[in-house]
Amino acid sequence: MNNDNRSNSSGARPPGPRSAPPSPWAITLGTVAGIPIRLHMTFLLFLAFLALVIYRGPDSGVGLLFLIGVFGCVLLHELGHSLVARKYGIPVSEIVLYPIGGVARMEKIPKPHEELWIALAGPAVNLVIAIAILIGLIATGSMGTLGSWINMRVGDGFWIQELMIANLMLAFFNLIPAFPMDGGRILRAILALIMGEVPATRIAVAVGQFMAFVMGFIGLILPSVILIFIAFFVFIGASQEGTYYQSRALVQGLSARAAMLTDFRTLPVGATLQEATNLLLETSQQDFPVIYGEEVVGVLSRQSLLRGLSTEGPSGYVTGSMQRDFLIASPDADLQELAANLQAGQQTCALIMEHEKLVGMVTMENLAEFLIIQQIMQRQQGQTT
Ligand SMILES: [Zn+2]
Repeated sequence: MNNDNRSNSSGARPPGPRSAPPSPWAITLGTVAGIPIRLHMTFLLFLAFLALVIYRGPDSGVGLLFLIGVFGCVLLHELGHSLVARKYGIPVSEIVLYPIGGVARMEKIPKPHEELWIALAGPAVNLVIAIAILIGLIATGSMGTLGSWINMRVGDGFWIQELMIANLMLAFFNLIPAFPMDGGRILRAILALIMGEVPATRIAVAVGQFMAFVMGFIGLILPSVILIFIAFFVFIGASQEGTYYQSRALVQGLSARAAMLTDFRTLPVGATLQEATNLLLETSQQDFPVIYGEEVVGVLSRQSLLRGLSTEGPSGYVTGSMQRDFLIASPDADLQELAANLQAGQQTCALIMEHEKLVGMVTMENLAEFLIIQQIMQRQQGQTT
C-alpha cells in the first residue's frame, strides 16, 4: 500500500483499501453517484417508532408514502452536501442515515470557505424541494385555505402538503447553529474565515453544546421525545467532532517530516524473534521495519511480535511474523491525510521513504505526542498574541 499520492494532482483519492472503513451498525441500501447509501440501525428503530405512534390509522398506506418521501428528502439533502464536497475534490466515503438526519462522511476536512458551501447545500436542497411542491400546489389549484393547512393530517391524504412542511422543517432545523448540525458548521466556517480554525471550532462546539441544552430543556417542557433525542445527539456530536476537528486542525498544512521519528532501530531479514524481543525491551520502539540491505520488506509490530513468540517461540524468524503490507509516505506527505490513513487502515505506523530510502517513521504514539505538543504551542501563542 502506497500512501504517496502527490502525483495525483486532482487531489482525489482512488477508492480501495485506503478508504475509511464503513460505519458499524449500518446496512447498505445501494449506491448513488458512486456514494454508498447506508441506513443506520437506529433509523429503522425510529421508523418503527413513528409507524407505531403516529400512523396507526386506517390510512397507514398514505403515512408510509409520507415516510418514504421524508426519507428521500433527507437523502437528497445529504447528496447536496456530497456533490458540493466532490466539486472541491473531497471524496465522500458514504452517506449514513440516522433518525435525526443523515451524515455524509468526507475523507478530508474541507477548507472554511468550502465547508460553508458544503454545509449550505443540504438545507438549500430542502428549500428547493419545498418551493417546488409549493409551485406544484399553486399550479394545480390545490393550495386550499389557511384553515385547511392548520387542520390537515398526513392520514387524510395531505401527504404532499405535509412533505412540503417537512422539508421546510428539515431546512430550518439543520440551520440551527448547533455544531455538528449544518448551521453549526456554517457558523464554524464563518468564524474560521475570521479567526482561524482552532478558536472557531472551540466556539462552535461551545455554542453547539449550549444549543443542545436549550433544545433538551424545551424538549422536557413540551414534552417532546424527539427534541430530547436530537439534543442528546447534538451534545455528543459536538464534543466528538470538536475533538476530531481540533486534532486535525493542529496538523493542518504540516508534512510528515514535522512529526516523524528519525531515530529508530531496524531488524535485518535474518533476525530471530528473540533478537526482536531484545530490541523491544531495550528501546521504547513498538514497530520495527524489517530490512534486506537497503530495502524494507516488512514491519514487525509489537502485537505481531508477541503473537509470533507464542506460536513459533523465540527461535522463529521475524520474516514469518512481520506484516508485508504496510503504509508508505513521502516526507512531504500531508500529515493530516497520513493521520487519517493510519486511523482508517488501523495501522500502527507509517514508513517515511525518500528516494526509496527509509528516512523516518510516523507511529500512532509519536503522532499523539506531537499533537499534544502542538496544542501546548498553539495555546502559548494564543496567550502571547
Ligand atoms: Zn446537512
